[in-house]
Amino acid sequence: MTTLATEHSALLDWFPHQLFIGGAWREAGDGDRIDVLDPANGEPIASVSSGTVEDGIAAVDAAERALGTWAVVPPRERGEILRKAYELMTERAEDLALLIVLENGKALPDARAEVAYAAEFFRWYAEEAVRVIGSVQTAPKGTNRIVVNHLPIGVSVLVTPWNFPAAMATRKIGPALAAGCSVILKPASETPLSTLAVAHILTEAGVPDGVVNVVPSKRSGPVVGAMLDDPRVRKLSFTGSTEVGRTLLAAAAKTVVNCSMELGGNAPFIVFGDADVDDAVAGAMVAKMRNGGSACTAANRLYVHASVAEEFSAKLSAAMQALVVGRGSDDGVALGPLINASSQAKVDKLVKGTVAMGARILTGGELPGGAGYFYPATVLVDVPEGAPVLVEEIFGPVAPIVVFEDEDDAIRMANDTEYGLVAYLYTSDLARGMRVSERIESGMVGINRGVVSDPAAPFGGFKQSGLGREGGHEGLLEFTESQYVAVSW
Ligand code: NAD
Repeated sequence: MTTLATEHSALLDWFPHQLFIGGAWREAGDGDRIDVLDPANGEPIASVSSGTVEDGIAAVDAAERALGTWAVVPPRERGEILRKAYELMTERAEDLALLIVLENGKALPDARAEVAYAAEFFRWYAEEAVRVIGSVQTAPKGTNRIVVNHLPIGVSVLVTPWNFPAAMATRKIGPALAAGCSVILKPASETPLSTLAVAHILTEAGVPDGVVNVVPSKRSGPVVGAMLDDPRVRKLSFTGSTEVGRTLLAAAAKTVVNCSMELGGNAPFIVFGDADVDDAVAGAMVAKMRNGGSACTAANRLYVHASVAEEFSAKLSAAMQALVVGRGSDDGVALGPLINASSQAKVDKLVKGTVAMGARILTGGELPGGAGYFYPATVLVDVPEGAPVLVEEIFGPVAPIVVFEDEDDAIRMANDTEYGLVAYLYTSDLARGMRVSERIESGMVGINRGVVSDPAAPFGGFKQSGLGREGGHEGLLEFTESQYVAVSW
């Protein structure tokens, strides 16, 4: 192991690096392990057990055994356990943030923000656990009552990505536990450590054995596939790419497993001529650069009105250039490395392909040499419609700017994508903001705001950005089945 791992050994060692099944930490059935790498230099920092298909099914056994008792734990008690988990995460916030930096690479301020966001899902769902409210109405014919009750959906498989390794876990575990479900979580192989730390915290908070199980695995397809084929599994909640989401929807069709899908994005960021340009630049810096651009909500395409395009581009370019790039935990660093070599190569290819079509680089755009998967903050102008950087999810620190003249044209270009997760609008005319929002095909819109994520709000996309919502009250209902009882009295 490297110096970095040695330096942080206490941090890395406060929870086991194993599978967590039925309340016990254990090795994978075949002893296989995943190397977790530091994206800042590509060197291993830890190794974690990599579950087999049999381990996945053992986790389903454990979750199924725990379900009956957990589902009838009083909602107040379930809420109090989640509240305790929120408090423990908050107490250990700095350790968790550093752990996220170690395995994911993001800058420490981003990691701290992630921990606060992640913990908030436990607090929010601690409060929601006691508000699973059904309804009663008289049937229109007057013959009976229609009683609707929301029951826990059952054993739930949760699959999460590497870009928010703690928050994507708590965003699923929080509502599932509040609703009375037991879960098996498969974290991304790049970043299993934060999830294992969260599992450890949940046991300290009092979650009973088998209610939360964690099975990291290199063999995602076969392990998740086998769990979906098991008729005891009633729910899949997936966050990741649209490509893998499509595969899992097809796999879930065999046993008609209920699916929530939080998939890719290609967010437009529209700056109208009446916007406050400094505000718009500050918003763009957050919308684009939160998590170094590796966010499904990242502004992927910046459409700027011709009257302010030059000023906006110059100011954005200056702000991007001022960002300090380096190891996420170093002082002053605002932009860490990308997660791995293939992400770095993809971003470089998108930029080169776009420049080849006539775009100009205002800042960045050069792949640095040396160790680690770094890419500089980059601004591109004169980007032609159809350029690869506008079509694909960039997932990196690149801001392509397109100039528009007319509102209808901006809306047409914003909607010209298979994705529909989020859009950002900057305008001093709120009526315009609301009018345009209704014509934008996306599940979330930020008006004069560069961040929309909030545990209290329903997060999710239109079109191929997904199915269902996470966060808010809606996020809890995703882990319930509505049962209607026709009753005469
Ligand atoms: P990914 O789709 O490659 O992987 C996501 C998870 O699925 C990982 O745990 C991975 O191991 C697992 N996986 C991969 N192939 C699988 C298979 N065949 N069967 C079962 N599981 C499989 O995504 P990623 O690269 O980890 O994350 C980046 C993507 O996630 C981006 O597209 C981003 O937009 C998306 N994302 C979406 C949201 C949202 O809320 N909409 C949030 C964060 C990230």
